[in-house]
Amino acid sequence: MASEIKLGVSTCLLGEKVRFDGGHKHNRYVTQTLGQFFDFVPVCPESECGLGIPREAMRLVGDASSPRLITNKTHIDHTDRMRSWSDQRLSALQKEDLCGFIFKKDSPSSGLHRVKVYNDKGQPVKNGRGLFAAAFTERFPRIPVEEEGRLNDSVLRENFIERVFAMQRWRDALQRKQTVGNLVDFHTREKLFIMAHSQKHYREMGRLVAAGKALKPLDLYNRYEVLLFKALDLKGTVSKNTNVLMHILGYFKKQLSSDEKQEVLELIQNYRSGHMPLIVPVTLMNHFVRKYRQPYLATQTYLNPHPIELQLRNHV
Ligand code: SF4
Repeated sequence: MASEIKLGVSTCLLGEKVRFDGGHKHNRYVTQTLGQFFDFVPVCPESECGLGIPREAMRLVGDASSPRLITNKTHIDHTDRMRSWSDQRLSALQKEDLCGFIFKKDSPSSGLHRVKVYNDKGQPVKNGRGLFAAAFTERFPRIPVEEEGRLNDSVLRENFIERVFAMQRWRDALQRKQTVGNLVDFHTREKLFIMAHSQKHYREMGRLVAAGKALKPLDLYNRYEVLLFKALDLKGTVSKNTNVLMHILGYFKKQLSSDEKQEVLELIQNYRSGHMPLIVPVTLMNHFVRKYRQPYLATQTYLNPHPIELQLRNHV
């Protein structure tokens, strides 16, 4: 399926032989599953900044908050080279409108979490971030980022990809005229989706939108964006989804027969107790939305936030 959604990705995950040893770290989930829905923008900091393939292996050394990038045997310091290349590369990436980035774990350049930083005694502490990954998250704090290893965790995977699609919807909203009315439309469609992450943020965003006419559009949209991605940083949990499902059920109060209502309640309970994936009650809700022609719910992103083929809601 052709797609306009762009994801940055560490080049070696695509199977390109760009690693220090001339190898790759092909990740089939990335290329075969996500590749059907996203356009990749590959980035290999070490080879692109001119260190060659193959090259001497390197590691982070010093203070985790500001480590140096040093080769293992010859002790050459590539920190400044990597920083100045990152600056230029990030400026180019700004024009790509990325909706997310998947980083290669453990790399002193690309690793996002718990990368080893060696202290002056040569002992590693897993509390660093690769130099390029650190520069990326600092320049683009709201672009969703994740490591390929963590995509094996169904909850983290769902959360990351949800945020990627949310970023695309938000970018689409920014393309339209930035009026209070258009923001109200966006906020209305995203209501249940945001509530599944944070009711508190949803309420705060509602107050912001209600006061929108008193603000300059740029300020309003900026403040909304900050709240939106703060909300989505909070994981959707079983209990939050259960609340949203009960909320949806409330819209059908007058239409569902007692049998239908009982059936929905049983599915929600089964989901809540971990015996059923979220996709099951959501599918039934979608069925009722069509059957009883619920126009408000039909527009809710929550009921169809990403392609069903990704199977993100199929885990228990
Ligand atoms: S981890 Fe990063 S720097 Fe290393 S080969 Fe992969 S893309 Fe290049």
